[in-house]
Amino acid sequence: MIQKPKGTYDIYDKKGRTFQELEKLMAVLMENYHYEYIRTPHFEASDLFHRSVGESSDIVSKETYDFLDRGNRNMTLRPEGTAGVVRSYIENKMYGDSIMPRKLWYYGPMYRYERPQSGRFREFYQFGVEVFGSDSPMMDAEIISIPVNFYRLLGLKGIKVNINTLGDQESRRNYREALVEYFKPHLDHLCEDCQTRFEKNPLRILDCKIDHATDIMKNAPKITDYLNEESKKHFEDVKKYLTALKIDYEVVPDLVRGLDYYTHTVFEVEAAIEGFGSQNVLCGGGRYNHLVETIGGPETPGVGFAMGLERLLDALDCEEINIAGESSLDVYVIPMTGMEDYALSLSNDLRLSGFQVEMDYMNRKIQNNFKQADRFHSKIIIIIGENEVKENILTIKDNHTKQEYKVKLEDIVEFLDEKLAEECDCEGCHHEN
Ligand code: ATP
Ligand code: MG
Repeated sequence: MIQKPKGTYDIYDKKGRTFQELEKLMAVLMENYHYEYIRTPHFEASDLFHRSVGESSDIVSKETYDFLDRGNRNMTLRPEGTAGVVRSYIENKMYGDSIMPRKLWYYGPMYRYERPQSGRFREFYQFGVEVFGSDSPMMDAEIISIPVNFYRLLGLKGIKVNINTLGDQESRRNYREALVEYFKPHLDHLCEDCQTRFEKNPLRILDCKIDHATDIMKNAPKITDYLNEESKKHFEDVKKYLTALKIDYEVVPDLVRGLDYYTHTVFEVEAAIEGFGSQNVLCGGGRYNHLVETIGGPETPGVGFAMGLERLLDALDCEEINIAGESSLDVYVIPMTGMEDYALSLSNDLRLSGFQVEMDYMNRKIQNNFKQADRFHSKIIIIIGENEVKENILTIKDNHTKQEYKVKLEDIVEFLDEKLAEECDCEGCHHEN
């Protein structure tokens, strides 16, 4: 038996309906926020990720799915969504249009070669947004409010927002120098990865999961002492706007996030639910004011976030929140032997008229068909026998009251509309009338 690749999973039944519901809700939320949907390729030239996500990030240094295509091009399955959206923004010259800021959202699978565990997969789904062209701290606050509101809408209670600032380029540069100075004598005590990070991007040492709790780390210089006035002001404003939005947050000075491109605000939303696993970061993001330039576009500020759907599903489970709608059925059609073509055609017409219709494809005995209709919680059963076909008068059974009706074919849509609109309080009925 061929099995699914390590670190992947199948989505079906209840999980499928949960995903569909999440997808619907995020689309509505994004309409309300007035963001445009964008879809970019699932693979891109490898260089794109090297340049944007950065060489020193875990993602690029050890997690990418790289392949050589048949034309000998270096390609990478996208590990995250920002790089592709930025590429598209530049390639399609969106900076030239009159919509400013440009607010975009995406949703889809991402690929990272990681050690699979709970909350960590090799193919996983992200919902994310990117905004180009505004350096207002209002935008940073809006970006943080989107995941927070999404979780609120879903009824999730145990969430915690952590924020920090990395300052502008100047502040970041000064801070970097201070970190180099500080870590130099301690290099031997840092893990192997951190020694590489020291060379490539010392800031990322603060994000190390191995050395995190050590004294060396705890006593490291804090970004707050290296921020210039402008950077301080930006961060103060972000906090002011978060308060206006009634979003509680904690300032976490060693929060730097895993990607190389951030400036100013960075944030994470974590699940603060008892019994939740160690992969508790539900979403993360921040401002990247130089990424567009780095990838070859005009100087354009940007800010965005990405949230993982798997960890969100776990969080919903943990708080016993069920958003999966029940699968429902309006009509179950039963053909007597020989009447299949009529039944098929009737089902087809009813589906096109907007009803949810199932029929018997298995030539079941009538009693088994009734059981099947009950299993699907079908409200209506239509039986197609010889007489029905001859006279174009259908035998209809209300599967809840068990009453039978004879309805002319031409009146069927009207009849069903009325019948399905009726209040129904019988047990097992999943129709919301
Ligand atoms: P982590 O520190 O947990 O590895 P990250 O910093 O690599 O996360 P981002 O690149 O910021 O994560 O991605 C944003 C979100 O996507 C994460 O907060 C998480 O919810 C989700 N995510 C990241 N990697 C995975 C994965 N391998 N499997 C499932 N979800 C993931
Ligand atoms: Mg990671």
